[in-house]
This record gives sequence, C-alpha cells and structure tokens, in this order.
Amino acid sequence: MRTIIEPFKIKSVEPIYFTTREERIEILKEAHYNPFLIKAKDVIIDLLTDSGTSAMSSGQWAGMMLGDESYAGSNSFFHFENQVQKITGMKHVIPTHQGRAAEKILFSIIGGKGKYIVSNTLFDTTRANIEFSGAEGVDLLCEEGKQPSLVAPFKGNMDVKALENFILEKGAANIPLVIITVTNNSGGGQPVSMANLRMVKEICKQHQIPLFIDACRFAENCYFIQQRENGYKSKSILEIAQELFSYAEGCTMSAKKDAFANIGGFLAMQNEPLAMECRNLLIITEGFPTYGGLAGRDLEAIAIGLEEVMHQDYLKYRIRSIEYIGEKLEAAGVPFLKPTGGHAIYLDAKAFLPNIPPREYPGQALCAELYLEGGIRGVEIGSLMFGKYGADGQLIPNNMELVRLAVPRRVYTQSHIDYVAEVIIDVFKKREGIRGFRITYETPFLRHFTARFERVK
Ligand SMILES: *Cc1c(COP(=O)(O)O)cnc(C)c1O
Repeated sequence: MRTIIEPFKIKSVEPIYFTTREERIEILKEAHYNPFLIKAKDVIIDLLTDSGTSAMSSGQWAGMMLGDESYAGSNSFFHFENQVQKITGMKHVIPTHQGRAAEKILFSIIGGKGKYIVSNTLFDTTRANIEFSGAEGVDLLCEEGKQPSLVAPFKGNMDVKALENFILEKGAANIPLVIITVTNNSGGGQPVSMANLRMVKEICKQHQIPLFIDACRFAENCYFIQQRENGYKSKSILEIAQELFSYAEGCTMSAKKDAFANIGGFLAMQNEPLAMECRNLLIITEGFPTYGGLAGRDLEAIAIGLEEVMHQDYLKYRIRSIEYIGEKLEAAGVPFLKPTGGHAIYLDAKAFLPNIPPREYPGQALCAELYLEGGIRGVEIGSLMFGKYGADGQLIPNNMELVRLAVPRRVYTQSHIDYVAEVIIDVFKKREGIRGFRITYETPFLRHFTARFERVK
C-alpha cells in the first residue's frame, strides 16, 4: 500500500519558533504548569485542541471575500442555512458564535433544577452549561468505552440498558433531553454507531424525550460508520450524515471542529416553538437570528467548510494521520486509548505514570513533561478536568486519566507527526523520575483553563 498523502498543497506558511529546553523550563514555571497559560509562540507543536485551529482552504478564504455583512437576511446566512439543512434536515438553523453559546441558549431554556440531561459523555462546556442552569448532567457510556486498552469499533456508544433504567428511575418528565456526542470527544474521540443511535432513538421515542446530537465531529463519526459498520461501505459521507441526523430532533455544533472555521457554531432543530424561544435568547446574547454573533464572512467559511469536510479523501487522510501516531506508540509500548479515534490521540496517563496517584494529577504531569521534552502542548482530560470534591473535601477522581493530543485539521504534515511520536516515546523512556502536581489556585467551573500548580515534593 502506498503512503496516504496530505490531500492538499500548502500555499501560505506560518513559521514555528524553536525554544530550547532551558527556555521551556522557565516558560512552564511562569505558566504555573498549566498548558493553557503558555503563550502560543512558545509552543513548537500545538496539540492543545483541534478547535478553531484548522487551516482554511483557498475556497474558504475566497468565500470570506464574498461574505455579505448585511445585518439582516444576508446572502451568507442563506448559504450557511442551506448547507446545514442539506446535512441535518433541520427546519430551524440558528447561528451562534461558538458551540457553547448554542449550549447556553438550549440549556437555559430546557435545563433547570431537578432536571437531568443524559448523554453518552457530555463535553466539558456542555456539562458546565447544564450544571449552570441547575440541571444535572449524566453520562451513560457503554462498558467498552470505559476500558482504555480495549479495541472495539464503537466505544462512543451509549449504554442503552442504563438509559432505560435511568428513565424508569428518574421519570421521563424530569429528562428534557438526551444528547449524543459524535464523536465522543471526552471519551477519546470514539465513534457512535448508527445501530446505537437507532436504539437510543427508539427508547427516547417511547418516553417522548427529544434526542439531540452534539455534532462537532459528525463527519469524522460518519467516516467511522462507513468504514466499520455493516451496510455503509458504499454510502457517501453525506448520505450517512443525513441518516444520522434523521434520528434527532435537533443538534448543537461548534463550527470550530468539523467545519474548518476559526470561529462559529450553530443550534438547529425541528421544533418551532423551541426555536422561537432560542431565537429570543439569541437576540439578547448573540445577535440577530441571521448572524448570531458571527460576521457574514464567518458564515460563508462555515458553509464551505461543512461541504469540504465530507470529502472522502480528506477524511481518509485525517483518520489515517491519527492512526499513524498510534502505530508508532504501540510499537514502543506506550499506553494510549485504543483504537485511535477521530481527532486526537489520548495517552493513558494512569498507565504511563502508575506511581502518580490521581490526586496528584498524572495527566497534568505528563502534559508538563511533553512540553519540556519537545515543546508539545496537550491537555489533561482526567481528574483535573472532571474531578469533583466530596463532602470531606477529598478529590473524587475521574475514571480515566488521559492526556489528549488533538490534531488541528490540515495544519501539520507527516514529519511534524513523526516528531510528536518521537517526543512521546522519549518521555516514556524517562517516565520513572516524573513527579505529580498540587493545585494552588482554581475556579468553581471549568477549573482546568485557569488552575495553577506546583510540583509535589
Ligand atoms: C468543542 C466542543 C463543544 C463546544 O464548542 P465551542 O465552540 O468550543 O464552544 C461542545 N461539544 C463538543 C463535543 C466539543 O468538542
């Protein structure tokens, strides 16, 4: 088999500044050991997130110049609306400045005290918006999804038995929404199968609970369905996406992911009264319903990106580039979440650094080490991001301690990726001496963004 090459050429480049290890020691200390507080110019390979970090195509840049900046009813809105409707089939399409703005609007309306929002796994901003409304977020991930080293095709699936039990226990009236995240970002970028979605839909229908999709990575999920699920080999990504959304009453999306845009998002739904309520809030918080906090040029870039992301050769390269890092790590014995998912490689920090207990944040320790070793920036997804404190003030750890290395779309080449694998493997060889961290400052919501740390003695 020949090398799967990047399906693009590079027209515009951005230089990388190479720091030395000595410089990085100081930089990390100044950032209080939190990768979010490191300046981007001091990062060699930035795998903090795949969100808003995509390289736009020449087509999208050309579209930016065509952006219609009219306040109401701009051409760019209709282009955007058409494209979202073509993929999702949703009647009402509401632009927002990013995914969490869509979540804020949706959960302010349907959330509230005593309510439960059930998911395969809620993303951190989604959970935060649910909890901020007073409702409780509930993750019911399938058993396979909880075992980092187990290879299974659809580890993002919801545990449908647990969903049924949960509905019976709490009562459908207290569950205003079930939301399925595709792919499951916090659970390793693992896909959800069409069969699972169909079963979830069936249960929701029986209990008259609307089903929504957190669609940030819908195209990557559809590619996995095409490759791994019976009956989808000869279907196009668009056809698969249309079926996927046909089971949902609505969706939220961050256009900073599978729309190759640097900013943007949307909320889409079938239900007219709900859409009217959402638009009312939109006008207060984001903007008029045909621009929702975005410029016309952003809507244009999103519309074009949503079309480009469904190209077969792009998705093949995209998923292969993640799998490729996985193969290199596997050969060196580095523990990571298997199989590799859609947008990131997730190092298993618990297995990587077994001597550091969860209360000393092994994921954060591994992030620090990757930066010191090779200027690579990743993010902890574990007890820092999702841990809670019990009544006794002790940390209740997350079930997994992961470090996510998210790969921006169309940004890095194969040699960048080779370098990343080399750095991880070097850190793995030196793992014995790595120490954990203690938090010195934190906030009540989304603490990982701003927390400060010191090394445990
Ligand atoms: C990024 C993301 C969000 C939030 O979107 P923003 O544009 O960052 O506000 C919600 N859900 C998932 C699964 C995401 O990956």
